[in-house]
Amino acid sequence: MAPPCDVPAGGAPPAVLAVAVPSPLRTLFDYLPPRDGPVPAPGARVRVPFARGEKVGVVFEHRDQAGVPAAKLRHIAAVLDPAPLLDASLLSLVRFAADYFHHPPGEVVATMLPPWLRQGREAPRPSEREWVLTDAGQEALRCGAALGPLQRRAVDALARGPVAAPAGDLTAALRRLAARGLAALRERASRAAQPVPGPALNPEQSAVVAAVTERLGGYAAFLLDGVTGSGKTEVYLALISTVTAAGRQALVLIPEIGLTPQIVARFRERLGVPVAALHSGMAEGERAAAWLAARSGEAPVVVGTRSAVFTPLARPGLVVVDEEHDLSFKQQDGLRYSARDLAVLRARQAGVPVVLGSASPSLESLHNARAGRYRTLLLPRRAGSGRIPEVRVVDLRARPVEGGLSGPVREALGRCLGAGEQAILFVNRRGYAPVLLCHVCGAPVDCPRCDAHLVLHRAENRLRCHHCDRVQAVPETCACGERGALVAVGTGTQRVVEHLKARFPDARVERVDRDSTRRRGAMERLIRRVHAGAVDVLVGTQMLAKGHDFPRVTLVAILDADGGLFSADFRASERMAQLLTQVSGRAGRGERPGSVLIQTHHPQHPLLRTLVRGGYDAFGAAALAERETAGLPPFAHQALLRAEAPARERVHAFLAAALDAAPRVRGVSMLGPVPAPLERRAGRVRAQVLVEARDRAPLHRCLSRWLPRIEALPAARRVRWSLDVDPQEML
Ligand code: ADP
Ligand code: ZN
Repeated sequence: MAPPCDVPAGGAPPAVLAVAVPSPLRTLFDYLPPRDGPVPAPGARVRVPFARGEKVGVVFEHRDQAGVPAAKLRHIAAVLDPAPLLDASLLSLVRFAADYFHHPPGEVVATMLPPWLRQGREAPRPSEREWVLTDAGQEALRCGAALGPLQRRAVDALARGPVAAPAGDLTAALRRLAARGLAALRERASRAAQPVPGPALNPEQSAVVAAVTERLGGYAAFLLDGVTGSGKTEVYLALISTVTAAGRQALVLIPEIGLTPQIVARFRERLGVPVAALHSGMAEGERAAAWLAARSGEAPVVVGTRSAVFTPLARPGLVVVDEEHDLSFKQQDGLRYSARDLAVLRARQAGVPVVLGSASPSLESLHNARAGRYRTLLLPRRAGSGRIPEVRVVDLRARPVEGGLSGPVREALGRCLGAGEQAILFVNRRGYAPVLLCHVCGAPVDCPRCDAHLVLHRAENRLRCHHCDRVQAVPETCACGERGALVAVGTGTQRVVEHLKARFPDARVERVDRDSTRRRGAMERLIRRVHAGAVDVLVGTQMLAKGHDFPRVTLVAILDADGGLFSADFRASERMAQLLTQVSGRAGRGERPGSVLIQTHHPQHPLLRTLVRGGYDAFGAAALAERETAGLPPFAHQALLRAEAPARERVHAFLAAALDAAPRVRGVSMLGPVPAPLERRAGRVRAQVLVEARDRAPLHRCLSRWLPRIEALPAARRVRWSLDVDPQEML
């Protein structure tokens, strides 16, 4: 039969629309077109009846036929976007992510959209006006005028640059600042500011820039393996300038380090073009506006944390992932995606180069580079005047340690302070002491809801659980009946600070951990003070490891390197090596040479020896060889089926039933159920089954067949379960 030729261009209305609606079901949902008005195109948000309520979903595709009986179909209730919000490339990203992570497509869409748009709200109109600091405001900032917490936050935000109006939850504080003459509202300045020039690139940087520039306009993946301070950011900036000058957009992913505003400010200043920032610290409306500016092409540069990988781009030109090894690129709940891996996929889809940068690349990326999938670009020395610091191991065995510091570290700190330089002491634990135990019976005080010790926080005189956030008073009596015999064992950041205050009373010591930086703007204020030379010693956790460029820091001491050496998690040594490399990288970035001291009870440990003698490259080579021998990722692929419930029997009954229901697929093996490393957390017992295969295809074939069977298990309704593809942490 000849095709009907009287159908007007654009075709007849589709019989049904497949809509991605947030729901635990791994499927699209069919709806009839709206009763009146135009048929929404794929990518448009719609409001649909769902169960007994309504939900916001996104039209995925038009279909000729429904998968369910016509009588059961309902109409789309309302169309929220006249034009598609998600373009074809984002829809195909949804499809990929739903398949690859075996996740419901509606949940993938929900993860992808900024909360504002996910809730079905109207796209916010880009603002015409913005708040700025007046001269009086600048003065108040400089001399640290007394301000309430909200106004303080508003001033900190303005210190980073103009804030678009309306400014969400900051609006009231901004009005009050304006009433005091410290802030003002003005017409939005033209965003084409003069870019501030950066340093001239050195020959290595130029070679890297040339290698990537040559490939603009097509897909190519690069691993930029550059030591800390080698000027990777300058390389990104040069590439982005070229890309934006050609009218294309750059997407830059950065780790979550509480420094996003500073990094965005640096990009704005240097590039002189609008930079859309996307991170969780922003007001929802602001975030949605930035997302839309990227989508329309109005923002030539997008800089954001993990979820920014889902930002639509009108004219993509380049993708950059900075600190590609960073664990924050992996989402640990819901859609457990890797933003780094999706960034590579997006670059390939868009036909643009992707640059993955790090001083301590993930073993996955090193492996991809060896396999020829990525091209490695090296920056082996520091840019500018800085030199790579000298690293020395301090053997803690049989050496007295006070407040976490051994003699050699105390002496080095004394010399550093004497020379008027700054030091960083790295401690991997916040609080005062990680354990409080009874001096008579030896029992530690544990969290009643987790398999973990409570951590003593002296500053507030409370015990805290770092796994479930439980807080309780410090007991006077041990469970054994002994009074006043509880002693604090081990060293947290607070204890180190206390010791330094007694030992170096003149030194200005600051603590940097999740507790001390909880208040908004606290981290930024601290960074300003470090740069201004108002701080001598920083005592902190891994928050100090990333991204900071403090030129006056000449000494870095890692007070306890033993934690990562004997973990059950096969990735622990990689994380440890990355952490040590990054923390060490904070020393000697300016004129004066730096040194790094690593305290350990295991100076002969092969990981430490390799790292200290050969640097991260040597470690990477050795670790890859080990993984290959052991048949572990990246030489194999894994997925983890996790389950948790208050009762252990339920968890094990579920996992046992799931194992029974598992399809037999050649080349795929299953291990478990085994308890999670922290078996009980927040009163729930946790266990898991590890699925492993040498090749990805059989693994995914197995998971696709397995999941519907798991969903159908009665035991599945009595636990909380999830699937993690390419898990990064066993937890
Ligand atoms: P990375 O991102 O590799 O840690 P950055 O790009 O932050 O390094 O650069 C580290 C420091 O070196 C910064 O202070 C930067 O301004 C400086 N720098 C980078 N490239 C050059 C260069 N070609 N000449 C002089 N200084 C440079
Ligand atoms: Zn707990």
